[in-house]
Amino acid sequence: TSNVTTVRNNAPLLPQVKNIIAIASGKGGVGKSTCASNLAVALAATGAKVGLIDADISGPSIPVMFNVEGEQPAVKNENGKNTIIPIEQYGVKLMSIGFLTPADSAVVWRGPMASSALKQFISDVEWGELDYLLIDLPPGTSDIHLTMVQTVPVTGAVIITTPQKVALADATKGLSMFKQPQINVPVLGVVENMAYFTPDELPDNKYYLFGKEGGQRLAKKFDVPFLGEIPIVQSIRESGDTGYPAVLKEGTTKQAFSQLAETLAR
Ligand code: ADP
Repeated sequence: TSNVTTVRNNAPLLPQVKNIIAIASGKGGVGKSTCASNLAVALAATGAKVGLIDADISGPSIPVMFNVEGEQPAVKNENGKNTIIPIEQYGVKLMSIGFLTPADSAVVWRGPMASSALKQFISDVEWGELDYLLIDLPPGTSDIHLTMVQTVPVTGAVIITTPQKVALADATKGLSMFKQPQINVPVLGVVENMAYFTPDELPDNKYYLFGKEGGQRLAKKFDVPFLGEIPIVQSIRESGDTGYPAVLKEGTTKQAFSQLAETLAR
């Protein structure tokens, strides 16, 4: 298709983007998009210029998490070439597969369609200068992962997992994939999400609902950095649903994601 041609003829793509970071998980529902959105906002809060591509075709949740559901990016035509203007919210430039499909519709994306959408997000969107472009990948291993590494120089991948055995088993596969020769993306580290729960009335207690320190063990096993743990917090879930990332409010969640952003920026 013409997209493929554009991508091949214009290499290298995104020369004005300093770091392209893939956010990946083995399993769905472990909080990958939640971490991607909070991390993006936390990085922007440090003064960095940040973009976020939602490439999770199985459930594009970034539009909801940023309260821009149903918005349609503007397209401008310059010298015969169409350029998509990303939607900007909370200091982050956004592009999502969700902007291309009507809300509540069950669009079935074939692998090649999703791959060409991702290519378009990379080659036809006016990202401008960015310090970080985060790519929220679908869970598991897919065509999209391959498309991504074939299209842009990915700086590294962050693996999100819960400490639960089934999540870790899938995260192990995801992590190994980045190390395979045809992908070959450095793993920047593992984030353990939903690490524990602390009730308000028992602030000194930690309950390890999904098991303890599984993310840390995974990081150790693959000899990659452990980037930190994010507890289960009701306001993180609520913030996701209302489209106002938890990191924007004062509190321990803000600290946790800000710390994560600082660790990554190093
Ligand atoms: P994924 O992208 O891995 O499929 P999501 O980011 O959509 O996962 O998260 C799945 C659900 O869990 C969402 O409802 C989200 O609000 C919630 N969630 C994620 N992380 C946390 C957390 N640390 N504390 C509380 N709820 C969370």
